[in-house]
Amino acid sequence: MEKRVGYAVTSFLSGVGFTVNALKMVYIAQDILERKDDVLVEIVAHEASHAAQGFWSDSLEQERTAYKTAARVMEDLKARGEASFGDRSGWLRMDDDAAEERVKKMGEHVHLYGEIPKKQPTCWADKIAMIRQLGFLIRDFIKGSNA
Ligand SMILES: [Zn+2]
Repeated sequence: MEKRVGYAVTSFLSGVGFTVNALKMVYIAQDILERKDDVLVEIVAHEASHAAQGFWSDSLEQERTAYKTAARVMEDLKARGEASFGDRSGWLRMDDDAAEERVKKMGEHVHLYGEIPKKQPTCWADKIAMIRQLGFLIRDFIKGSNA
């Protein structure tokens, strides 16, 4: 089945990309596009992984896959001499549990990572989890990211 996803630039947030599979959209913050370093490649590859997975809600399992995909893309480009990125190979050496634990620890900065389930919800549980996670994101945004 063919799957189409749109990409858009947003100035609503900075320093991030995010995927909304319910809308079939990937959003990249304007300031990321202006960077010429590895962050742009890392974020586009990470968000493309979310789009390919196609879930509406997030999970540690899904984030682990996205971080490993981005690391694989960056290491491949480096191996072919097409870029000189920093070392991301650590993600590729970690087993799944260790990688998911690392994502969970990132929840200190990316608050949603502290809230998402380990295993990816599927089918209707995915849609229900998306509504709950959207509620968390709205509450977290209103509270302020430094609270
Ligand atoms: Zn992600």
